[in-house]
Amino acid sequence: MWTDSALVLASGNHGKFKEFSKLFGDFAIEVISQAKLGVKSPEETGLTFIENALLKARHASAITGLPAIADDSGLVIPALDGAPGLYSARYAGANASDQENVSLLLEQMKHLSGTDRQGHYICALALIRHASDPDPLVTVGRWQGTITNAPRGDSGFGYDPIFLPNNLDQTAAEIDQKLKNQLSHRGLAVIKLRSLVR
Ligand code: IMP
Repeated sequence: MWTDSALVLASGNHGKFKEFSKLFGDFAIEVISQAKLGVKSPEETGLTFIENALLKARHASAITGLPAIADDSGLVIPALDGAPGLYSARYAGANASDQENVSLLLEQMKHLSGTDRQGHYICALALIRHASDPDPLVTVGRWQGTITNAPRGDSGFGYDPIFLPNNLDQTAAEIDQKLKNQLSHRGLAVIKLRSLVR
């Protein structure tokens, strides 16, 4: 049973802020962005998405004294040993654009075909009650698909123009974004977390 009335979101991303505010709207929990409380993002030193989500939540909670929620997400291609993985946002370099990351991934995969082009998006969510909470709520959502040979579509972000979800014939950048939110790794992780916050 969740009794706190506010929690801090360990992300500066406005889209995520809206999504998580909605997630907790009917629980009467106010979500406050960490930027509003002067919290800067810590270095993401974890070796997994779960570790990074936990360290971001712990950092925000330690500084604010509030419960905290954080996510970490990316694209995993097993045939590339999990790349771009934890480095999805900066695959082609520290300040790489989405287009540069997409181009590099297509280049790295140009010799791959069939099942070797399969991959998944992953989203790990961590919710902690206080900075030394030994029993955080953690959920993971995965969205399986195939990497196309060329980009298609211009909605979404990141690798969406080359991510063809299983059982669909449009890329994640061509489908309706409401549908994307229902099917996606992030949507699934959020649904799982909602069922735990009772
Ligand atoms: P972060 O968790 O916001 O740091 O996202 C990490 C990176 O993973 C993003 O910059 C994108 O490159 C990629 N990524 C995560 N989720 C998605 C998605 O839903 N669509 C496209 N790319 C994504």
